[in-house]
Amino acid sequence: MAPAVDHADWDTLAKITPPRGLNLYVAWGLHPYFVCEVTPSESATIVEELYDRVTSATSELRTRLRAIGECGLDFARAQSPEVRAHQVRVFRAQIDLARATGLPMSIHCVRASGPLLELLRERPTPPAVMHAFSGSAQTALSLVAAGHYISFAANVCVPGARKVIEAARAVPDDRLLLETDSPDQTPPSRRPAPNEPAFIIDVARRLAELRGAELEAIATLTRDNARRVFGVEEPLALHEFDDDDQP
Ligand SMILES: [Zn+2]
Repeated sequence: MAPAVDHADWDTLAKITPPRGLNLYVAWGLHPYFVCEVTPSESATIVEELYDRVTSATSELRTRLRAIGECGLDFARAQSPEVRAHQVRVFRAQIDLARATGLPMSIHCVRASGPLLELLRERPTPPAVMHAFSGSAQTALSLVAAGHYISFAANVCVPGARKVIEAARAVPDDRLLLETDSPDQTPPSRRPAPNEPAFIIDVARRLAELRGAELEAIATLTRDNARRVFGVEEPLALHEFDDDDQP
């Protein structure tokens, strides 16, 4: 699953030819970092384009486009109330798009778990993926209770990362996901190499260790969870997400 950061990524991602034997799925969205770099009127135009392009996607594009993202909140990057409010507006628009299409979101959240939970509780949303989760076990369980999935990257491999390690132990099997967040977040044992998808094995091994599970079991359950949340076993039909669809 390769997510977009901004509108320049959308077509690029859709055109990548994956290596033989691999399936590539993509997410289209607007990252909170990007939101910090544009004016509110620029983001409004781009959000509108995102909405139009996703809701009118061809069936060929829909086989690959399986999520809205990255989207979310980064209050470490956005310090002022104005920029934070701008991030909230753009994120809320992407939540609306997820609702309009039934697509899951890939959510980036840094130092904003309170506002994130509030936004996700405003209205029922399709199950979302908390990408490269770095919050507490308590936040993870609140998100799970609201129907969402928690995805861990190599921050769980860092010795002494107590908070995220507790979260990695607490998430139930059926909501657990793995990722690399490459080229960022290289696992400690691979530094200084840039991160790459193959290093996902490090995250899987570490989760197996932390959860007292077999590596094979972690691989199987996270694969099944990813297939379920991104709907990659069936051809995708966009459908409006009703309040009755509440997970
Ligand atoms: Zn991110």
